[in-house]
Formats: sequence, C-alpha cells, structure tokens
Amino acid sequence: MGVDVLAEALSITREEAYSYITRGAVRAMRYRSLPYYVLRRPIRGFEEGTAVLVGREGPLVVRGYPPIRRVLLLSTAVPRHFPGEVYVEEKMNGYNVRVVMVDGELLALTRGGYICPYTTARLTREQGEALRGLLGEMEGYMVNGEVVGVENPYTRHRYPEAPLFGFFVFEIREASSGKPLPIPERMRKVEEHGLRGVRLLGVIGKDDVEGLKEILRSLDEEGREGVVLKDPEYRVPPLKYTTPAANLGDIEAGMRFFFDEGRSYLYSRILREAFRVYEEGGGLEELERRLGGAILEPLLRAIEEVEEGGQLVEEFTLRMSSLEEAREFLAFYEGVGAPLLYYRVAQRDGEVLVTVAKAKETFDEIARILETGLSPID
Ligand code: ATP
Ligand code: MG
Repeated sequence: MGVDVLAEALSITREEAYSYITRGAVRAMRYRSLPYYVLRRPIRGFEEGTAVLVGREGPLVVRGYPPIRRVLLLSTAVPRHFPGEVYVEEKMNGYNVRVVMVDGELLALTRGGYICPYTTARLTREQGEALRGLLGEMEGYMVNGEVVGVENPYTRHRYPEAPLFGFFVFEIREASSGKPLPIPERMRKVEEHGLRGVRLLGVIGKDDVEGLKEILRSLDEEGREGVVLKDPEYRVPPLKYTTPAANLGDIEAGMRFFFDEGRSYLYSRILREAFRVYEEGGGLEELERRLGGAILEPLLRAIEEVEEGGQLVEEFTLRMSSLEEAREFLAFYEGVGAPLLYYRVAQRDGEVLVTVAKAKETFDEIARILETGLSPID
C-alpha cells in the first residue's frame, strides 16, 4: 500500500520503489501517525533529502534543498555567474529546515529529510501561528529557513538576536518542484506573516565586487558566517562565500575533535583561506598566526583534558515542554544513528531540560595514544 504511494509520487514502478527500500536508498519512516519516506541518495532527478509525506489527503513530495556552490575567488566568479543585479543575503550558521503543513500540522524536516520532533515542537510553539498563517495561505509550499542558536541537536552558534533558538527564513519554495518565489515576493510574504527573514545586506551590480568585499569585511568583524548571493528571480543558482572568521572558527571548533570532524574541516578551510589571501594580496602573516592558533590550541587543550581524566564529549541542551516530547526526541535521535553517550533530564518551572552527550571517536583515540605512546595514523 505505502509502496504504491511512493512509486506514484516519484513516477517509478512499484517494483523499483520496493527495491530502493530494500537496498536502503529510500528509508520508510513514521512520525506519530504520519508515514513518510526519505531519499538517502538522489533518485531520478529527486535530490537526496527529498521526503514523501503520506498525509490523509494524499502524498506531499518535499524536494531536498539543493547544494549551493562555493566561491573561492569573488572577483572571478561573481561577474561571470550572474546575469544582472545580485542580492546579497546573510548566510546564517545553523541548520537547514524545511517547514511544511500536512493534515493541519506543521512539520520541520532536516536537510537529510527526516522530520525532527524537537525542531517541529519548538518551532510550532514559538512561531506556529505565523508559519501556519503563511502555509495555510500557500498550499503546497514549504518555508526554507535556518534554525540558529545553541538549543538544538545539530549546531551551536550564538547569535545576539537569537542566542538560544531562532528561525530565519531564506526561501519559500513550491514543495513538489522546489521552485523558489522571487526574492521580493518572498520578503513580502515573510513580513506580512510576521516571520523573521535572513538579512538582505545589499543589492549590488554583478561587477561591484568591491561593494561585496566591503559587506564581507564588516561581517567578518562581527564574527558572522558569510553571504549567499542570489539572482532575485533565481535565473542562475545561488553561490555562497564565508568569512575568515567563520572558516577559522570552524577549524577551531573542529580540531577539538581531531579524529571526528578535524580532518575534513581543515582541508577545505585551508583552501578557502589560501584563495582569499591570494585574491586580497598580503595578509599572509596574519593568516599564518590565526591558522596556527586555530589548529593547534584546541587539539592541545583536548589532549590535556583527556590526560586530566576529562571525557571529551559534545554536549547540548534542549528545552522541551513535556517528558513525552523528550522521549520522542531521544527515540528519533538514536533512530537516525547518532550514538549517545548519556543524557540527563531535569524538570524546572514546567519545562523539561534534556542534556545530551554525543560520543566522540577522538576521546578514545587520544586516550589510547596517551596509554601506548603510539600513533593510530602514519
Ligand atoms: P551545501 O550542500 O549547500 O554545500 P552545506 O550543508 O555544506 O550545504 P553550508 O556550507 O552551510 O552547508 O551552505 C548551505 C546552507 O546555508 C544551506 O543549506 C542553508 O541551510 C544555509 N543558509 C544560511 N543562510 C542562507 C541563505 N540566506 N540562503 C540560503 N541558504 C542559507
Ligand atoms: Mg551551514
């Protein structure tokens, strides 16, 4: 029964749908009474992270959020890529969420296509009315936004305007096609319904790379992540660029967990920073100093912590409204394959605070090195 719905939604045969599921390319999930399917890799033009939600009134295909190409050389890429004016939006540092409404309920999907019970509950609680208003009026659409702040399971970055939990809209798209509304129209809808959008930092001519660099300099000074550059009508796909503050900050955060995020973080960020210095000319000594600190200090601190008997875990705290919500989240989180080391639940003033610690490979690796004195890598 369910497989037929999936087959029809993706325009494939029943046999093909069945085979995708048995091979693990599509995962059959359930959120409360809602069955849904998650594409774990691209299938027939549907991007990875696409979800098929089987609501009472029929299936809703929610297209995956497409990857955004990264710019290394602004003065080369920007004039070449864009046909006209460029809208410079702030790129916020959190996690990508698609919000849709099915059977009258709001649902928040992660980049991977899973309905996150925590994000769903918290967004419904904090901005439910505005989101319901917009999605009620725009049937078959999704709201794409970034959840930022420290109270979430995925990322931790404290914004002054949303230190704990904030949601900033950066697109409104038709769910089944992924087609975005033009930027001015989207901004009107966001404002009309009382939602918060990412900041529009400027509209520049495609050759005004100096103007763009000016914007990036002030973002960097404020320690903010960067920009996403967009054609207002999406005639060409958006591009992204991040500040040295973000690139070096990522390295610093990643190197604490050398054997987990460390390696991949370092590689890509070094490339970004090298091309930035090449494009800007000069500034190499400063980069050398900052890079050295960002790489070595967190790693040394991690070694010392393990040596002093510390655990070296990644902890986060979630604010929930009931124990039931906590239970639902923990089951979801372990179900999508995140190994938990421990969790603590505390009830306070009618709220439930759940602190979760993720196990990290790095802890065991460092402990073994301290014990044997031998390297696990060459
Ligand atoms: P990608 O697959 O696009 O490379 P990634 O997971 O590596 O994604 P990022 O490098 O953070 O992510 O860049 C893309 C992400 O930036 C988007 O998926 C979105 O979550 C986030 N984002 C923040 N602000 C914006 C914005 N203004 N417009 C578009 N995306 C934004
Ligand atoms: Mg991001």
